[in-house]
Amino acid sequence: MTQLNQQQWLRYSRHYNVAQFGIHGQQQLHRARVAIVGLGGLGAPVSLYLTAAGVGHLTLIDDDIVELSNLQRQVIFREQDIGSAKVTSAATHLRHLNSDIDINFIKQRLSVHNAMNHLAGFDIVVDCSDNFATRYLINEVCHHLSSAWCYASIAQYQGQMALFKPGAACFRCVFPSVDNHAVNCRDGGVLGAVPGVMGSLQASQVIQYLSDPEQYESNRLLSFDTRSLTSSTIRLQPSKFCATCQTQPQGVEFKVQQSADDQKPRSEREPAKSTLDGYEIDPKMLDEMLRQSTVTLIDVRNRQEHQAYNIGGRLIPETEIIHFSPTFDSPSTIVLYCQSGARSTRAAVQLRQRGIAAYSLAGGLQAYCAYQLALA
Ligand SMILES: [Zn+2]
Repeated sequence: MTQLNQQQWLRYSRHYNVAQFGIHGQQQLHRARVAIVGLGGLGAPVSLYLTAAGVGHLTLIDDDIVELSNLQRQVIFREQDIGSAKVTSAATHLRHLNSDIDINFIKQRLSVHNAMNHLAGFDIVVDCSDNFATRYLINEVCHHLSSAWCYASIAQYQGQMALFKPGAACFRCVFPSVDNHAVNCRDGGVLGAVPGVMGSLQASQVIQYLSDPEQYESNRLLSFDTRSLTSSTIRLQPSKFCATCQTQPQGVEFKVQQSADDQKPRSEREPAKSTLDGYEIDPKMLDEMLRQSTVTLIDVRNRQEHQAYNIGGRLIPETEIIHFSPTFDSPSTIVLYCQSGARSTRAAVQLRQRGIAAYSLAGGLQAYCAYQLALA
């Protein structure tokens, strides 16, 4: 068993009197190898707590760069990190927190092509991603490698978390297919501290699992609502019909398919380009149109959102866009905008169906503001 030196012994001394953990648990953490997929709202607390707790080897996997809008919840980053790769910024901060930990990083997005390589050789993989495609991929690969992994997802006020052990129920036993109605943090928003709660729960479970994998009780799915302050834990059972764990692994051909867009770094995905059937206008094009005064801008968010911040134009909420008629003597282009581009796309489609040539600002105000800040 790993011998702790004097500094290590002192640093982790609060752990030794924790029942079922003790100095043995600390020694187990010291030799553990953990991969963290995604360095967003969940990855921040997970990486901070695992580093602080003395997990010996951490590998961070992410291809994104730090953006201003990340700082509302991704507490590992600082304003000075904006524009830097998340993995390099996070590795620097984690090394300052605990210089004793071996911190590695892979600046790539996890994909069907690299997941077997990147996720091999760890005691546990922590999913801190924000999408179902990555979770199914981690599930398939970890099943194939007989590795444990810890899942969490967050949306608005709520979160879910489970730790999957080899031989127990897997993620696909619980979620056989993608839940199209599931709101993720990118589309539906998330309250700042919620990923902190769920990421801390993940870290607490990973620490317990590493200290004694045999004794760790899996087959539990926790749901937590920070608004009603209620939680529920569902007992999980392996499903006889699970396409992942009830079939023999077939080589390394994974069933999970990611879209071409999913393979790109977030920074290239979100400020969408003008591809959606020609209905979209990117921030740069809008800027040029605004300079030449050739645009009729319409904000399709609600009044409260409009009053809080807007870039001009008329306010016509999405629900009222049905009543909009353009003045026929106006030669300008109609551009709709909202926060992220989802509502304005729907509204533009509605107007198009009525024969009105409307466009949507791709990526919404978020992309437009990021573009403007990048120019400044
Ligand atoms: Zn399964």
